[in-house]
Amino acid sequence: MRDGTRVIRAGLPATSQGEPFLPGPTFAGTYAFSGDLGTSAYTYGRYHNPTWTNFERALGELEGGPAIAFSSGMAAVTAVLAVTLKPGGKDNVVVMPSDGYYGARALAEGYFASRGVEVRKARTVGNAQAALLEGATLLWLESPTNPGLDACDLAELSQLAHRRGVLVAVDNTTATVLGQKPLDLGADFSLSSDSKGLTGHDDLMLGHVAAREQAWADKLQAFRTQQGAVPGPMEVWLAHRSLATLEVRLERQCRTALEVARQLVARAEVRSVRYPGLPQDPSHAVASKQMLHYGPIVSFVLEGKEQADGFLKACNIAVSATSFGGVHSTAERRARWGGDAIPPGFIRFSAGCEDTLDVVQDVSQALDAISR
Ligand SMILES: *Cc1c(COP(=O)(O)O)cnc(C)c1O
Repeated sequence: MRDGTRVIRAGLPATSQGEPFLPGPTFAGTYAFSGDLGTSAYTYGRYHNPTWTNFERALGELEGGPAIAFSSGMAAVTAVLAVTLKPGGKDNVVVMPSDGYYGARALAEGYFASRGVEVRKARTVGNAQAALLEGATLLWLESPTNPGLDACDLAELSQLAHRRGVLVAVDNTTATVLGQKPLDLGADFSLSSDSKGLTGHDDLMLGHVAAREQAWADKLQAFRTQQGAVPGPMEVWLAHRSLATLEVRLERQCRTALEVARQLVARAEVRSVRYPGLPQDPSHAVASKQMLHYGPIVSFVLEGKEQADGFLKACNIAVSATSFGGVHSTAERRARWGGDAIPPGFIRFSAGCEDTLDVVQDVSQALDAISR
């Protein structure tokens, strides 16, 4: 069975006469529970929820390893760092990408570094993190990176890390589990912000971690229970419902993203364009080895802040907003946030599920508007 088929039914209970395919969300702080522990599957809302169970089963089928849902992508990031690193002890070195999601970097260099974790950093391009593995505990990878879209070889880096006894976590947010399979490529953890493309409707916050080994999934689950970053059942139910369309959304988004990228390359107003699906892109060789879809994000650079702001203002379809991967095309001047080494005219464009030609034509007229 292919993923495009698997994703439709993933995590659903067996069909039952008179029952919906996906049971509605279970809103429960506590459950009726008498007698001793072990006699009820569900006891208290912070420990477990049947709506989580179905969604995690779906993710597990797609990821190829047990999955734990969290209240946001950052809660998932926090959990992986927390269960693998032991500040002050022997296992206290993490190798991060210097150009990955700034939130994960800020957490590692802020909270974790201040408690004795050593954070080493290297760029994603050229597998540069491989040079920093000696004595490390955890190799943190992100490919393609948000927002620069550089790629690294996940299989090769996982092998190099494992040879030195280093665990490997991949932030798979930009690709989603249907775009790239970190566990199949050798990673120990595949994690993602599901506030982005995996759920794809920009209406919720969620994250998850899938682990190669059940023992790590158990530790992640115990951490979630103790630390308390549990997802709401409504969000999880919406996520499970949205998951079914992931393959069709990705197909449309990737087709549009490629067309937008091709058009940008041909425009004089655009200084540089990045899309892993473009044959001439620096990430293409690595990405085509490990990605099943190249994703919705196109990054490009206009002359400066003024041109970038003018472009965004002239867009009629793409909404000016942060985040990416949703059914609505969105775009933003990324440098407004700070924290990433990018020029002021850098635009992160996320292709939505609108008609491809409409999006391409809208980008074209917005570029016309700033060149007038
Ligand atoms: C958004 C994002 C996160 C954080 O996810 P939230 O759901 O916003 O907490 C982590 N990694 C990457 C690559 C992201 O884009």
